[in-house]
Amino acid sequence: MRAILKLWLASCLIPFSLGLVRAQDDVVRTADVAVRGLWPSDFPRLKKLADRVYVYEELQTTPPLDGVFTTNSFIVITDDGVLIADGQGTGEQVQRLVATIGKLTPQPIKYMIVGADHGDHTGGNYALPKGVAILAHPNAKPHLEAYAKRAIEQTGKSNVVMPTEYMTDQKKVIEMGGEEIDVLFQGRAHTGSDLEVFLPRENIMFMSEVFFNRLYPSTYSGYPSEWIETLKKAEAMRAALYVPGHGFVDSPQVLNQEMVNFRLCLENLVAEGKRMHDSKIPVESAPRFARLGSYQYWTRAANNLPDGLRRVYMEIDGQLK
Ligand SMILES: [Zn+2]
Repeated sequence: MRAILKLWLASCLIPFSLGLVRAQDDVVRTADVAVRGLWPSDFPRLKKLADRVYVYEELQTTPPLDGVFTTNSFIVITDDGVLIADGQGTGEQVQRLVATIGKLTPQPIKYMIVGADHGDHTGGNYALPKGVAILAHPNAKPHLEAYAKRAIEQTGKSNVVMPTEYMTDQKKVIEMGGEEIDVLFQGRAHTGSDLEVFLPRENIMFMSEVFFNRLYPSTYSGYPSEWIETLKKAEAMRAALYVPGHGFVDSPQVLNQEMVNFRLCLENLVAEGKRMHDSKIPVESAPRFARLGSYQYWTRAANNLPDGLRRVYMEIDGQLK
């Protein structure tokens, strides 16, 4: 009888407790647009994060990935102009972004922060209005110059826009129309020139490509162990909201959890790379033997794993300068 009572109690309690959990977890944890149940026609879309602070989610189209996941631009409107952190991959996409901002405010776009120098965040910058100041980390300069050179070799022309100013310190405070905007370099991560944008008043941090929400880390030009340390520094700032450079902009609670999950995923990648390097498994075979646990189900895990392991091997062999 007691056993039956226990069973009955359990059956009443389980749905109740699951219900409590679901209140903040009510999204499918994925970066994949289709898995989330959305259509390409749902994008681009704008999300308000705080008064005059927005994120713009656009489908990733460069390189052509069929719009599997999203690329995010961060928008801060002030009484003295608009700041954007990270653009989009194509000129048409940036034109749409500029037009969307034009519907929000008559203020001109004054600043573009290059949080990530890769083409999916900078390729469309040529479509920005004239006179926009473009700020990047000095490490972005050789990367952007190399993209321009490659484009000229391949197509005879380049749309790459070079920054107008570079970070001279780990932190640059931009005062715009009474709003303090902190641009931070907290260490190398995905590109080596990774910048984050922090709003002290709202306690919101745009992470650029230092944080992807449930998109498996893309590490082809990244610094896996340093990336983990960069994430820990950002976590220690205890922002109320961490905005990812790729993947959905979910609730603050979900994004807080997922930023930790993202670091744990990188820690798994580094640990697995080290384990196989120690076992003298050739890097080409390493993906077959990696134990990813549930990270194997993250969006694009199979695609991004080989480069990730290659970079971990390079790091151990002292080849990442
Ligand atoms: Zn990217």
